[in-house]
Amino acid sequence: MPDYEDYIREIKPIFESHHLTNMGPVYKKLQHSLIEYLDVPQLAMFVNGHLALELVLQAMGLRDTGAEVITTPFTFVSTVHAIVRNGLKPVFCDIKPDDYTMDPEKIEALITEKTAAIVPVHVYGSICDVDAIGAVAQKHGLKLVYDAAHAFGVKYRGKGIGSFGDASMFSFHATKVFNTIEGGAIAFHDESLREPLHELKNFGLHGEDVTAYGGNAKMDEFRAAMGICNLRNIEQCIAARGQAFARYHERLSGVPGLTLIKEQQDVTPNYAYYPVLIDPETFGEDRDSVFDRLKAQDIYARKYFYPAINEMACYQGQFRGETPIAARISRNILTLPMYAELTPETVDTICDVILRK
Ligand SMILES: *Cc1c(COP(=O)(O)O)cnc(C)c1O
Repeated sequence: MPDYEDYIREIKPIFESHHLTNMGPVYKKLQHSLIEYLDVPQLAMFVNGHLALELVLQAMGLRDTGAEVITTPFTFVSTVHAIVRNGLKPVFCDIKPDDYTMDPEKIEALITEKTAAIVPVHVYGSICDVDAIGAVAQKHGLKLVYDAAHAFGVKYRGKGIGSFGDASMFSFHATKVFNTIEGGAIAFHDESLREPLHELKNFGLHGEDVTAYGGNAKMDEFRAAMGICNLRNIEQCIAARGQAFARYHERLSGVPGLTLIKEQQDVTPNYAYYPVLIDPETFGEDRDSVFDRLKAQDIYARKYFYPAINEMACYQGQFRGETPIAARISRNILTLPMYAELTPETVDTICDVILRK
């Protein structure tokens, strides 16, 4: 949360102008600040990240083509819903066992003449192998849209992560590293996407005429104001998460049966999540049991991401792609509490419970 007085100052002009929504001055101010902070060529903002992803696929002309889209089953369900709700067919590519992102080596075998796009996920803020995936997309003439919901502020070789691929979706949901309460954005390169993205979130209105089956996914001025306030503190927030991250690493590394998240080369991280992979044999206890013991102490870890998307009731057996690694990881992974205000003492308490100290 930002400072209350800071937020009140930021929304005062909205009360004076009565310009509550429809891409007003506060929207534009946040948009420009984010283009700079995220280091991306262009940015369109939305009421949430999910609709942003749905609408960018439509803006690219993919909606209702029935084409196949290669994606990962190890993500939040929103990624795959965005594909299916566009009348497209997800094809599940397995993930790498070390950082849980889409395995670039397994993409080509899934490509058919129906494939139109690849939608990988920078899961937990760990970035995909953007060089290898970009090369596959280019070789086969496929659109490349990253779900960067977890990757706010992450850089690769000093470049904003949202500048890779054709487009990237960021989520500004309350639970993410940066929030506008609810909100999201598409970072993109191609100038020709700007107008369709703008129109599709506003009912397809094009001047007085309507040229597309748009929806309503506009970010309002009050949410944009929340973003302006939160952006002022983002560096401190990420640094504070980094402290908690380091403390977890200190306490949990070297414990037999626990695999911690790897810090990636050439990457400026955002410490969005702290996932721990639990090998039940070696650790002597399975993920669900650790989860339950934490819960009994009022510590709420999350089973992100379980079940894997292709094991959920509405996806099971529906779409192709064998993903045994994603299945194993999703059954054994636990993300521990992670937020800017998390103190080293609290991290110690959490670790003591996990380690039965
Ligand atoms: C949060 C999230 C979304 C959806 O974003 P919202 O802003 O909540 O709509 C999509 N994909 C992933 C991986 C997410 O974590």
